Amino acid sequence: MQDEADLFYRQLPKVELHAHLNGSISSATMQRLVAQKPHLHIQHSMTAINRGQRRTLDECFQVFEVIHQLTDRVEDIFTVTTDVIKEFASDGVKYLELRSTPREEKSTGLTKRKYVETVLEAIKHCKQEGVDVEVRFLVAIDRRHGPEVAMETVKMAEDFSVSSDGVVVGLDLSGDPTVGHGKDLIPSLQRARNSGLKLALHLAEVPSQQEETQLLLSLPPDRIGHGTFLHPEVGGSQELVDTVMKKCIPLELCMTSNIKGQTVSSYDKHHFLYWNNLGHPCVLCTDDKGVFATELSQEYQLAATTFNLSTAEVWALSEQAIDCSFAPESIKQDLRRRWAQLKREIHS
Ligand SMILES: [Zn+2]
Repeated sequence: MQDEADLFYRQLPKVELHAHLNGSISSATMQRLVAQKPHLHIQHSMTAINRGQRRTLDECFQVFEVIHQLTDRVEDIFTVTTDVIKEFASDGVKYLELRSTPREEKSTGLTKRKYVETVLEAIKHCKQEGVDVEVRFLVAIDRRHGPEVAMETVKMAEDFSVSSDGVVVGLDLSGDPTVGHGKDLIPSLQRARNSGLKLALHLAEVPSQQEETQLLLSLPPDRIGHGTFLHPEVGGSQELVDTVMKKCIPLELCMTSNIKGQTVSSYDKHHFLYWNNLGHPCVLCTDDKGVFATELSQEYQLAATTFNLSTAEVWALSEQAIDCSFAPESIKQDLRRRWAQLKREIHS
């Protein structure tokens, strides 16, 4: 029975909208990278948080420091992007939005522009190879790097949204939520919006950020990452909830990530329940499938078992994610047709 359930969730067509490239590197790829760089003396336990383990959010960010050492060359970026795309595809993901902060590494000659170009090349390569998943890219702003870098990143995203033929669809705001203030980033995010880029912002990821959250919501963003502390029961406010609902901003929810990162105490207390009960659009996502040792099929299964979702509700959840994506309308229509066809096949 367990195998049958696993198979269903793997076969279920899915949309992944919140996946950080470096956090999504699987342990198989990680082992290959580690073997290529023995001088770094990195063990697997330093790059993944396995079943039953938890870390503080701070410790999670340290994991990324280690991963960055392993992915500091153009060829590493190409390898990890290709591998991550193929892994999502084999988990039944039909549409994927990857996100990553452009990085420069003086020692290897990697520039921020080259970083993005390499990711885009890998996306193109997978498409040419016929990997069955449509991929888009969000250029990420790491809030730790301040407003000037943010503006630079927006300008780069603008250039790439033109030159990539629509593969670059928007911006992500992420990084340690306790560092810096959202207000300093408003001009960059506003500019991005004005130039037609979509905004997926990590919001209310930690408690007591009501003022910042309210400010960023006024943009408004096109999607919210986590939104863990928006509602009044967890120290947010009804005002925040009302704003999110009125503007109908979908939430990207990452259950395993929140449990392992200790911002939510147990699965049954996950805010999926609160928002789903309100009928608000929620999209299940992995966040960092490599670091948190999960897969999108697993996240769907987890939500279904924790909140007693019926098969019809699970299908509705995965199909609703199409509407929340930043894909153009033509792609959304193709995806809806795929869903209808696969539903017939899977249940026949
Ligand atoms: Zn995230």
